[in-house]
Amino acid sequence: MAQNFLSKKKLLKKYFGQFGGQFVPELLIKPLRELEENYIRLKLDKTFNNTLNYYLEKYAGRPTPLYFARRLSLYLGGAKIYLKREDLCHLGAHKINNSIGQALLAKYMGKKNIIAETGAGQHGVSVAAVSALFGLSCKIFMGEIDAKRQKSNVARMELMGAEVIKVKSGSKTLKDACNEALRYWAANFDDTYYLLGSVVGPHPYPTIVRDFQTIIGKEAKRQILKAEERLPDYIIACVGGGSNSIGIFYPFLKSEVVNLIGVEAGGEGLENFDEKVCQENIKENKMRKNCLKKAKHGATLNKGTKGVFQGSLSYVLQDNFGQICQAHSISAGLDYPGVGPEHSYLKDKGLVKYFPVKDSQAVDAFKLLTKLEGIIPALESSHAIAYAMVLAQKLKKEEIILVNLSGRGDKDIDIVNNYGKN
Ligand SMILES: *Cc1c(COP(=O)(O)O)cnc(C)c1O
Repeated sequence: MAQNFLSKKKLLKKYFGQFGGQFVPELLIKPLRELEENYIRLKLDKTFNNTLNYYLEKYAGRPTPLYFARRLSLYLGGAKIYLKREDLCHLGAHKINNSIGQALLAKYMGKKNIIAETGAGQHGVSVAAVSALFGLSCKIFMGEIDAKRQKSNVARMELMGAEVIKVKSGSKTLKDACNEALRYWAANFDDTYYLLGSVVGPHPYPTIVRDFQTIIGKEAKRQILKAEERLPDYIIACVGGGSNSIGIFYPFLKSEVVNLIGVEAGGEGLENFDEKVCQENIKENKMRKNCLKKAKHGATLNKGTKGVFQGSLSYVLQDNFGQICQAHSISAGLDYPGVGPEHSYLKDKGLVKYFPVKDSQAVDAFKLLTKLEGIIPALESSHAIAYAMVLAQKLKKEEIILVNLSGRGDKDIDIVNNYGKN
């Protein structure tokens, strides 16, 4: 009967300062513990790591280049801008790094099925791909409304052999898909692995996803040292859940010379737009759900307050009743009312600075990079580029900015072309 439990001190840290934890139903404690113990074991396993490196190289296309954006830098007339080209990864974004890592974990843990939730479908496609790659059956939970909005991603997932389960409960979007996936996992964890897409959710997911994305920062460090023989002055990355940013930041966190900057979705501006309506509704005693604030942004670290969301304690966009706000961003990947708990810690410690960038600025940056360099950035990544453009002009020519170009923007061309037209 005796389970071979690891001693307490060998487990991973459950909290980042006060943030993180496991705020989940009792039923999920056991599978989370199983995941943690297996992860600790496999992290040190030579075969696991060799296999992981093999697929990162041969399937995902790593290492990705570090590219000096010469014409962009010249145009801005300030610091040198380097781009870490995660847009060149298989499927066009950094998400594949984590998907390969976790799908291999699942395989080594003997799981036969993979489940995941997806909003815009980017994470779903990446999970469907690695499930095909490793011969695992795959179910993707997606809100019915999101599935309608993202038909081509649904088709991609289905062609890769995944079953897309359209969730009809609640608002029929991402958070309902999350709830449904968790319910399914609680009933099926014996043979099913839940593959989370960012550094969010209950412990140990934020740590596992961070570790798999740290490859970005490790490569970038080696590459910038080779190109410039010194570390960069700034590293800039966009923050949705926070995985591409923590991935590039992590190997530089202890450096005192590198300034780390996370860029959040400023949307249409940082004011929470129906605050007034909300106050009036309260006065008139209308239903409390009418008071739910709709944010015009996704700037969780700039405007959020501490709260529990999706299994961990972090900053979150919520109204006075603790109801989660609907976030807004022109980019699907940043349109999220929560943020990974480690970012909340890094913000409070002052180790990383977080700034908002608006939709309109992201669109301008998208167009400028495309025109000057022939590189179409994802709208998510365009937020980081927009911040870098403003900063570069204030810096000296010998200073260096490294931007994480988290993904490619082919998916966003219609959005950019239609922006401001209605
Ligand atoms: C999903 C996505 C993001 C946001 O997710 P993080 O976990 O914050 O990295 C950013 N950029 C691209 C290209 C994405 O696909």
